[in-house]
Amino acid sequence: MNKVIVQKYGGSSVADTDKIMNIAKRIKMNVVRNEKVVVVVSAMGKTTDNLIKLAGNITDTPSRREMDMLLSTGEQVSIALLAIALHKLNLKAISLTGMQVGITTDSSFSSARILDIKPFVLRNHLKNNDVIIVAGFQGVDKDRNITTLGRGGSDTSAVALAAALKAERCEIYTDVDGVYTTDPRVVKDARKIDTITYDDMLELSSFGAKVMHSRSIEIAKRFNVKLEVRSSFNNKPGTIIYKETKGMEDLTVTGISFKNDEAKITIAGVPDSPGVAAGIFKSLSDNSINVDMIVQSASQKGINDISFTVLASDVKSAVEHLNNVVKKIKAGRVYSDKDISVVSIVGIGMKSHPGVAWKMFDILARQKINIQMISTSEIKISCAIARKDMTRAVKGLHKGFKLDRAGMKLKR
Ligand code: ADP
Ligand code: ASP
Ligand code: MG
Repeated sequence: MNKVIVQKYGGSSVADTDKIMNIAKRIKMNVVRNEKVVVVVSAMGKTTDNLIKLAGNITDTPSRREMDMLLSTGEQVSIALLAIALHKLNLKAISLTGMQVGITTDSSFSSARILDIKPFVLRNHLKNNDVIIVAGFQGVDKDRNITTLGRGGSDTSAVALAAALKAERCEIYTDVDGVYTTDPRVVKDARKIDTITYDDMLELSSFGAKVMHSRSIEIAKRFNVKLEVRSSFNNKPGTIIYKETKGMEDLTVTGISFKNDEAKITIAGVPDSPGVAAGIFKSLSDNSINVDMIVQSASQKGINDISFTVLASDVKSAVEHLNNVVKKIKAGRVYSDKDISVVSIVGIGMKSHPGVAWKMFDILARQKINIQMISTSEIKISCAIARKDMTRAVKGLHKGFKLDRAGMKLKR
């Protein structure tokens, strides 16, 4: 069979029928070059947001199963329209839903994980078609419920299909020219990165860079999928994401990401005894509330303060549950601040360069930005700060680490 490539087009790239027609023309160029194309598309423009609003007009607490049923319809519209556009160009194309291609997931509605894809269904269709269009973001669980993979999840559908088909490459088409040193909408002189490691990209996307869904990078790394992020509006080379890049280790910081939807919770006066932290976090876990950064202060007279971040949208329910736990464990009060952002600097080169943390804190201090919490991994440092300081922090760090130029190289 001809080479198979996977392409994914995001919401802004299929926002109207003219754009869909343009994409069909781009896909035709691949077919002319004798490539078989598996295309994954997102819902048109703001469709997913609008569907969420519709449900919100009815209730604040819709069933999670029905939300996935609702949101999956967005992608179904785009796959059919793209198939119709490809037919107009005389290409043999067929559109298929996640269920039709056998994308099986677990049953965690709204954040389902892909368990299995049966490539033979796709291979059969590829015998009779030049292009197969698959609905992104969706799958089906073992009880045949429709599931979705979480916001931005079409990237993960595309990479998982590329892995299952052992595709030649996976191209992610979006509304920017590639992966930048930070969100180009926030920092004007952000620079496009030509090549980036899976590890750096994973940290950037896990900590807020929504250009790629973080789980797509996990899959790409595990199955060694050759990934490129590029624009659907021009033909410029994009960003290649792969295992390792020569010279990469010289750069201390590759990029900066941020999350603007965090909240901080502090429990004061927590008794310093085994099992107390477990009790606190079990109550959050039992209620599907994810916790990010956790800081416990040194014990004084047998009591601690514990602070952590959760999504701002979870803070109300988290505080309600924690108020019950606090009574049981005889802790003090629960405080919360829902206007928190987390800014992270990421770079594989940090491993071998001391002084990066100091530099980050110094840049923030010079701008009089107070750091409320810190967490680190081998290749990332995150600071929780007040949301009002976010843009200043990102701009300052971008400049301070010279990301507007070639990036900062520290002497070993
Ligand atoms: P799509 O609909 O194509 O999936 P997304 O909106 O999910 O597109 O992702 C693209 C957006 O990600 C860009 O418009 C940009 O604002 C944002 N973004 C955030 N961080 C970065 C980054 N480091 N590099 C490029 N884009 C970024
Ligand atoms: N349509 C979904 C969303 O808006 C999935 C995606 O675009 O990747 O989140
Ligand atoms: Mg996206």
